[in-house]
Amino acid sequence: MSDLTGQLKQIAAAMVRERRNEHVELSSQIHANPEIRFQEHQAAQWLCETLERHGFRVERPVAGLATAFVARRILGRGGPSVGILAEYDALEQVGHACGHNIIATSSVAAAVALKDVAQAQVEGLDGEIIVYGTPGEEGGGGKCYMADAGLFKECDVILQMHPTGTNGIYDGFDAREALEVTFTGRPAHAAATPEQGLNALDGAVIFYQSLALLRKQMRHDLRVFGIFAHGGEHPIIIPAEAKVQLFVVSQTSKYLFEEAVPAVEDCARGAALASRTQVSVRRYVPTYQDLVRVSALDDALAANMAALNRPLEDRGRGQHGSSDMGNVSYLAPSAGIYVKIGRRDLVHHAPEFTEASISEEGHQGMLDGGAALAMTAVDIMTRPELRAQIRKQWEEQIAVRR
Ligand SMILES: [Zn+2]
Ligand SMILES: [Zn+2]
Repeated sequence: MSDLTGQLKQIAAAMVRERRNEHVELSSQIHANPEIRFQEHQAAQWLCETLERHGFRVERPVAGLATAFVARRILGRGGPSVGILAEYDALEQVGHACGHNIIATSSVAAAVALKDVAQAQVEGLDGEIIVYGTPGEEGGGGKCYMADAGLFKECDVILQMHPTGTNGIYDGFDAREALEVTFTGRPAHAAATPEQGLNALDGAVIFYQSLALLRKQMRHDLRVFGIFAHGGEHPIIIPAEAKVQLFVVSQTSKYLFEEAVPAVEDCARGAALASRTQVSVRRYVPTYQDLVRVSALDDALAANMAALNRPLEDRGRGQHGSSDMGNVSYLAPSAGIYVKIGRRDLVHHAPEFTEASISEEGHQGMLDGGAALAMTAVDIMTRPELRAQIRKQWEEQIAVRR
């Protein structure tokens, strides 16, 4: 690493700390006013106002989402584009129990620090910083819509942080397809003329049971789980329509789409045949992809976390859970950090996490996360050889997925 890179990183981290009070205030404001998926109007407004005040050019709405935005600022002509993903949606009842107030503010803290560095230095930081305001992460897949609208691929790298109970690196996301399987039969009087009916609920039941048998012959990481979303109208009427909603989850997109989803669709067709009903299958929320990991980018983030006295810990996890950031990682080299804001076994989506997201440790995690993102952006902007390595590794990873 050159002296220039090291110096710029130190200044960036100092700039984040210097604005501590304004960042804590923004994070606290968002925390005190929790808004659920796609209704984050106030949070988006506060974030956009803050970025505009710091000279970012804000576009909003984007991708047909009222609470999505893109905020850009060119630090110096000719350099790379670094994207940072902000999330700011809360959860029903438990508020900011996933700490997205911290994610949002940390993204702003990193972006503003980079602007501060560029303003303070005569030269050194060339490139563009882009903050993506990505709503509806909790079950809405906001980034999927933004990806479909053509965003993200303009970036050389994309970064994010997420608060949790350990310091770590995003080590994978599960690919997920949400399927709604509808069986259509023929209604009839269940006691008087059952022979006139075709029972859609029977189709759904056969389908559901066949999934249990299917699992035995599938890869260990496959998860298939679901509910009966509709099963008929009244016991005296042969059900004419029945719906099963499923999540089909695997550690890799390739296995999910080449093996698992086709197998589930075969089960649906088999169940329809056995019950003499019709079946249709549709995706009812956006597809989530797995995470394309780029080791050179992970390493750069990890080194900056270590420099902030947050060495990575073993998270000891098997299955990962899904995130709409997986889709982003197919469009540009992407990586993220987990930042510790409380006990090691802190539970996401529980009230204790809501408290941690506004605690002193939460504020410190927000600032350190912002500093790590800003420092990694400095790496990207000042080290062309690192950029080339990241691009090469990412292209290789994409190629094996095709
Ligand atoms: Zn969450
Ligand atoms: Zn979250």
